[in-house]
Amino acid sequence: MFFLSSTALSQLGKNNASKSVLRRIGKAGARDGTQVLANGGVAAICALAALSDNPIWQVAFVGAIAAATADTWGTEIGALQSTPPRSILSGKHVATGLSGGVSLLGSVAELAGAVLLGAIAWSIHASPVFFAIVAGGFGGALFDSILGASVQALRFCRGCGTFCESDPHHCGADTTLVRGAAWMTNDAVNLLSTAAGAAIAAAIYAVR
Ligand SMILES: [Zn+2]
Repeated sequence: MFFLSSTALSQLGKNNASKSVLRRIGKAGARDGTQVLANGGVAAICALAALSDNPIWQVAFVGAIAAATADTWGTEIGALQSTPPRSILSGKHVATGLSGGVSLLGSVAELAGAVLLGAIAWSIHASPVFFAIVAGGFGGALFDSILGASVQALRFCRGCGTFCESDPHHCGADTTLVRGAAWMTNDAVNLLSTAAGAAIAAAIYAVR
């Protein structure tokens, strides 16, 4: 469901304005190996651990995937909102698509993605896991935004005079780091937020 819905959303948005916004920031484009590892690495480890027959790893697996789904839905659908998002930490307006920015539409989309994964898991799993998955998915996406507004690398392209998240920029010019750590890329943040999604879902499942 993560793969199908993410692919569908990026196909739907391919020719619209939001896609070109995400491309300028350095967020869109073909998925490469690093992106796949960043979004699916934690889930893959949980899937291997689930061979131990301890169901908590199944819940952690779906929690990681739910966080990736919520984040993708929030980014793709949130970019369609016409008013600019606000930083989750400072409350100031930020450019659409930049990490750390949140909007009502994007947050509703994040919750919807987490709820869908939670409902699917609940329908398959023998015990109630709905709330654990929704909390893991939405909590992971929330963590993604907080990291995006604080420690994630934010760069500035002198050529275009815009903030972005890639080096070099989409235009080909080199960029300078203006906030965060250079190694804390979008991929690194995705890895950490899917780990948070897995941990939150597993913790709630464990204490239920
Ligand atoms: Zn540029």
